[in-house]
Amino acid sequence: MAKRPYTVIRGGKLLDIAKRAATPADILIKGDTIAEVGRPGLAAPAGAVAIDAKNRLMHAGLINAHTHGPGNLGKGMGDLWSLELLLTASPWLNGGRTLEDKYLSSLIGAAEMVMKGCTAAYDLAAEFPLPSVEGLSAMAKAYEEVGMRAVLAPMVADITFFDAIPGLMDRLSPALRKEVASFRYAPWKATTKQMRKALQKWPFEKVVLAVAPTIPHHCSDDFLIACRDLAREFEVGVHSHVAESKVQVVAGYNRYGTSLAAHMDKLGLVNERFTVAHGVWLDDEDMKRLGDRGASVAHNPGSNMRLGNGLADMRAMLSADINVGIGTDGANCSDNQNMYEAMRLASFSSKVQGPDWQRWITTEQALIAGTQGGARALGMEKQIGRIAPGYKADIVFLDLHHVNWIPTNDPVNALVHTEDGTGVHSVMVGGRMVVENHKLLTVDLAALAAKVEGSRARRQKITSPAKKLYGRLEAVVGTFCPGLAKAPLHIHRFGASHHTH
Ligand SMILES: [Zn+2]
Repeated sequence: MAKRPYTVIRGGKLLDIAKRAATPADILIKGDTIAEVGRPGLAAPAGAVAIDAKNRLMHAGLINAHTHGPGNLGKGMGDLWSLELLLTASPWLNGGRTLEDKYLSSLIGAAEMVMKGCTAAYDLAAEFPLPSVEGLSAMAKAYEEVGMRAVLAPMVADITFFDAIPGLMDRLSPALRKEVASFRYAPWKATTKQMRKALQKWPFEKVVLAVAPTIPHHCSDDFLIACRDLAREFEVGVHSHVAESKVQVVAGYNRYGTSLAAHMDKLGLVNERFTVAHGVWLDDEDMKRLGDRGASVAHNPGSNMRLGNGLADMRAMLSADINVGIGTDGANCSDNQNMYEAMRLASFSSKVQGPDWQRWITTEQALIAGTQGGARALGMEKQIGRIAPGYKADIVFLDLHHVNWIPTNDPVNALVHTEDGTGVHSVMVGGRMVVENHKLLTVDLAALAAKVEGSRARRQKITSPAKKLYGRLEAVVGTFCPGLAKAPLHIHRFGASHHTH
């Protein structure tokens, strides 16, 4: 890189979102940054490395605004899961993990993301009962090895799911109550200390840290305030699952007497560095509050459908001036890490919400959310999300001879509605090719598969008691929570008429 700092990409077509066009353009890159975008034949310094992009459509790397690295080892482990059942299953899904497992889980996700055209992610990682510098470093190492960017935010809490849902603990038998006592997190001061330790000495370049009080009412107010102060002190983002399910909103009103977003705002957490994950059950007032503060929502339509949380109203979010990014969510609740699919579902899930087609999300809006919206949520809107001088050279090369692109009519429509990741030919992150000719250059997938299979078999044994416990808890949580979701509420986000509540 030092000897030959320039790269020039020639012969490709550049996606122009506003014009809905694929225009011939050359791109000059210096180091990891785009220096110039110009007409074919763009002048380049002598010795510049040339990349042939003939028959390629170039677009800015997609940005996954919400995922969970630890979810990748739990891919495909369950089917009929509500959010509440998934949280109940956590000791089964995540138990018995070594440092190596934490690394492997993030590595699987990062590999999948770059191969499917995504070059940066907001990853809400988790360790139980509290985050560690070693664990976070292992996950960051995975991203750096794959060669993609991430904002890594350890999910933290000091109240268990069973204590956070009003009335749930009372439904458990004394024996089960004793069992779930083992789900307790570390005291919040110990957790805050670990986060501070990681923030103070963080050696990674492509991976930065953020703060993630996982779900507002799973954190005491003292802890939420500590998270706010930590984020302020280190000038990093805050990311939280707010109003993901109706059960959460009902629990929030029960605890605070206000909506979850109003409570977060009262404590001073809502600002331009704040990202709400999901926000399915935000009401108009919540959305106005988030929009006025310059906050973001990470919209995860696939996960919202998969877990039965309903349909988020992305149109209303945009109308309230909320910055919207798009996410896949973790692989244990939407099963793949495909940002093309996530954008497609953002478009489709808006289109099933009613006959008023002018309220629907356009492909252009879905694509902007999947790139620039995500960049802003990650706090990197001046570095990534666009192909323009001064931005990092994070570029996806789609194969225009792939069947997805025959014919190429409106390229923005095709990118969001047709492309499924199979047309990704090559992917560049910071001027370096990470995927070339459909092959991941940085990780040996066969070796990864062998290691992961060993891990899977070992953990399957270790977590078998946790799986049995899940079976006993499912019977209680699986009836109590749907009951709670029948409580009357002034908004409605479920998809079908048989949910009349
Ligand atoms: Zn999540």
